[in-house]
Amino acid sequence: MIYDTLVIGSGPGGMTAALYAGRSNLNVGLIEQGAPGGQMNNTSDIENYPGFETISGPDLSMKMYEPLEKFGVENIYGIVERVEDHGDFKRVIAGDDHYDAKTIILATGAKHRLVGVPGEQEYNSRGVSYCAVCDGAFFRNQDLLVIGGGDSAVEEGIYLTQFADKVTIVHRRDELRAQKILQDRAFANDKIDFIWDSVVEEIKGDDVKVRSVDIKNVKTGEVTNHEFGGVFVYVGLDPVSSMISDLGITDQAGWVITDEKMRTNRSGIFAIGDIRQKDLRQIATAVGDGAIAGQEVYNYITEQA
Ligand code: FAD
Ligand code: NAP
Repeated sequence: MIYDTLVIGSGPGGMTAALYAGRSNLNVGLIEQGAPGGQMNNTSDIENYPGFETISGPDLSMKMYEPLEKFGVENIYGIVERVEDHGDFKRVIAGDDHYDAKTIILATGAKHRLVGVPGEQEYNSRGVSYCAVCDGAFFRNQDLLVIGGGDSAVEEGIYLTQFADKVTIVHRRDELRAQKILQDRAFANDKIDFIWDSVVEEIKGDDVKVRSVDIKNVKTGEVTNHEFGGVFVYVGLDPVSSMISDLGITDQAGWVITDEKMRTNRSGIFAIGDIRQKDLRQIATAVGDGAIAGQEVYNYITEQA
């Protein structure tokens, strides 16, 4: 069997692409390695998705997922390891299984980056976390460190104040990258402190968990030790694109290059959402990309017929 399109990844981008393609009566497979929703599942309150004043990431994920069945989208569980381009058909390899399709929509998004300091890997899940929504409640009444200065660090830092005694955000510059509204909320929050112009040198602990962190001021070079019960790392994202690394459709960092119709330089292979080389990585932009790609695969298949 050959699918009209295989969408890889069921974040907001992939689910929207599958919806549009399914609604155009195409034969659509949606391959996902985990729960539908992607990064939305790690998000507390979403306030910038139109139509909802506030909605939790998991709730929005389910709202996007539920209509897919109605339009005949086939959900396939699988961890995609490779995508092959055989010209008029594409092959997706997932473990011992493979799936063929006329078109592919890559929607595997992005994943959190490691800060890369001693102690980070050693104490992963023993005080070091990349997901406040998943792990925040384990850190009640503790002092926590958040690393980063972007939307994620500030938003998730605010979220953590409902559990923690105090949240300290350490940022390598003296100015946040986060949206102004998030900055204002963080500055107004009594439970949030900042350490500016500073980077983490080492995360330290004992046999059980994280106990303290060495922090270096990049201007003075001074290193100081601070006691923290947990460290949340939000230093940006890397693309999830290893499965297409030999297709020649990414930039040097691994972000997929597309035109405004979400077409890569390979005929019949599209990419959407956070995996794309783009300026604004958001749910709304992933959804917009997905709508365009879902329609474009229909146009592509109709033209080829
Ligand atoms: P993703 O959401 O990354 O989904 C990709 C999917 O692909 C995942 O389900 C993954 O499991 C799957 N996948 C990956 N590799 C494979 C594989 N090999 N095989 C099978 N499946 C695979 N945006 C907002 O607009 N508002 C917010 O409030 C907001 N808060 C955020 C908070 C945090 C902490 C983070 C990290 C991000 C936040 N964002 C927010 C950004 C938003 O979540 C992303 O821009 C959006 O989820 C990107 O959607 P996507 O469909 O491109 O990919
Ligand atoms: P980001 O915007 O890339 O910010 C990463 C932050 O980490 C930056 O402040 C960066 O510092 C810092 N950093 C990078 N490498 C570092 C290192 N090695 N050591 C110390 N600090 C380091 O990433 P993000 O905050 O995860 O956001 C990712 C995407 O999701 C963005 O598009 C964002 O808008 C979106 N998002 C949106 C929302 C929302 O809309 N509410 C919430 C969360 C995320 P510099 O500033 O100096 O570069």
